[in-house]
Amino acid sequence: MKKLGIIGGSGLYDIEGFDFVQEVPVQTKYGEPSDSYRVFEYKGVSFYFLNRHGRKHSIPPHKVNYKANIAGFKELGINHIISITATGGINSSYKPGDIIIPDDGIDMTSGRKGTYFDGGLIHHIDITEPFCPIMRGVLENAAASADEDVFTSGTYICTNGPRLETGAEIKAFDRWGADLVGMTLFPECVLARESELCYVNMSLITNYAAGTTDSKLTTDEVVAEMSKSMERLKNIISMIPVYYTENRVCECKNALKGTKISKND
Ligand SMILES: [Zn+2]
Repeated sequence: MKKLGIIGGSGLYDIEGFDFVQEVPVQTKYGEPSDSYRVFEYKGVSFYFLNRHGRKHSIPPHKVNYKANIAGFKELGINHIISITATGGINSSYKPGDIIIPDDGIDMTSGRKGTYFDGGLIHHIDITEPFCPIMRGVLENAAASADEDVFTSGTYICTNGPRLETGAEIKAFDRWGADLVGMTLFPECVLARESELCYVNMSLITNYAAGTTDSKLTTDEVVAEMSKSMERLKNIISMIPVYYTENRVCECKNALKGTKISKND
């Protein structure tokens, strides 16, 4: 059966028609992942779900063990990961409830353990295009056949958090070309690339970023939008088996080729 990893939060587990198979705890040499991997089967695909912030949502973005999370997928023999994130909208075309498949990213995090090559072996990987183009296509096709409108490009800027941004920061990010802001894309996408995995992101816009709108949304409205977009997200995920293949015609599997600088092998 084809395997596919999904990193996200709770609320994604009860997808209609998905059969729960097992829960797999994994230990890695980088420590323990945020949670055990919960396996569901649907239309010929084994979906491995990992809760990025832990089951009780107790791990803040800057404390997530990204290295262990990605290494855990690799140990389970998974080569493809879909990352789900909640974000704030900077681009004025976005509104809460929208779904974005970003095509680029900016890393504003600091102090996170963001590489597997931090001593000994050194690779300078290329991350010009941080997301797997084939997997982006799979998501686009899945969204289209689920009849869900999504934005198929956008630049995700990743802040360190856990605090939100100032109005001036968002203004600056806007000028840099950032469309959405969140706290978890980096170093996750980098570690996936260093592991030669195919990685793609799908972001939900849950709120307007600081200072981008005069209208204040009530919490109730945000919660209502969230549950609507969660349903839309599930519709998209349930169409993935139609388009997903484990064949790797992209370059992700060769990410380390020709990138090594150190000579200790
Ligand atoms: Zn790929």
